[in-house]
Amino acid sequence: MTRFLELLSAYYRPVIEIGLLAAVFYYLLLLLRGTRGAAVFSGLVIALAVLGGLTQIFQLEVINWILSRVLTWLAIAVVVIFQPEIRRALAQLGSQQLFGSTRQRGELIDVLVDAAASLARQRHGALIAVEREVGFRGVAESGVPLEAHASAELLETIFHPTTPLHDGGVVLRGDRIIAAGCVFPLTQRANLSPTLGMRHRAALGLSEETDAVVIVVSEERGEISVAHRGQLTTGLDPAALRAWLVGTLMPPPQKTHWAREWLRRAVDTLMVPRPAEESGKSDDLRK
Ligand code: ATP
Ligand code: MG
Repeated sequence: MTRFLELLSAYYRPVIEIGLLAAVFYYLLLLLRGTRGAAVFSGLVIALAVLGGLTQIFQLEVINWILSRVLTWLAIAVVVIFQPEIRRALAQLGSQQLFGSTRQRGELIDVLVDAAASLARQRHGALIAVEREVGFRGVAESGVPLEAHASAELLETIFHPTTPLHDGGVVLRGDRIIAAGCVFPLTQRANLSPTLGMRHRAALGLSEETDAVVIVVSEERGEISVAHRGQLTTGLDPAALRAWLVGTLMPPPQKTHWAREWLRRAVDTLMVPRPAEESGKSDDLRK
């Protein structure tokens, strides 16, 4: 019997090990797909695998020793480099428990659809981010604080090209516009259509780093687009925008496990959003 178990473990251990490792890498890549982190991560893994292989084949002990030391620090570096991705993944793990009641969200959708339709008709460019689970304090702080009840009229006024606030993006929290004229982080993606300028890149950028829903109205084409979790959907008419918003902002109620909720809150408290660091830097420059 023991002999049988030994045989079994000898044959199946590598299979289980490889299977588990493959699963971990698969989910990591799935998580990072389409983000800036994906290229860095793949590069890092390939470089380490090649270097590790070479040191084993040629018995390069010094490099091997250095590699083993570096790996410990690399683990910390990976957490720092992939902070937005980790934050996003943990936010995904948490509930879809959003701002406000269902009624409030319904009203917000009406406001957003009315504003986007009217702005698109007039060909006034707009960029509107709806904050969800992951806060982006730094982004809101980069603009002009407003604290106003959200209405289609106010959004249309803000994005009227003759107003001082029309440049940049608006941040919505619940049913309030908390800031306008905000600078969103730009996506680093290289394979975007050349017709997409800075406004669309800013929408994608914020949607990659947070779980926000970002609505863009193109000034050039009068077209409505939405960015969410690093995906840009272009060419929506008001009805399609409404359907998309209902599908995204009004998921069926879910019950969250207390441990997940606790973990999500802990991570959100510990991790300062990247844009905040950037605005901190610009403060230093001004001094
Ligand atoms: P459009 O189709 O409306 O022309 P676009 O994607 O081609 O949009 P641009 O023409 O480059 O983009 O739009 C420039 C405007 O985008 C700026 O005037 C500014 O209001 C906004 N914008 C650019 N960068 C950012 C940013 N980082 N954060 C917020 N808004 C930005
Ligand atoms: Mg343009």
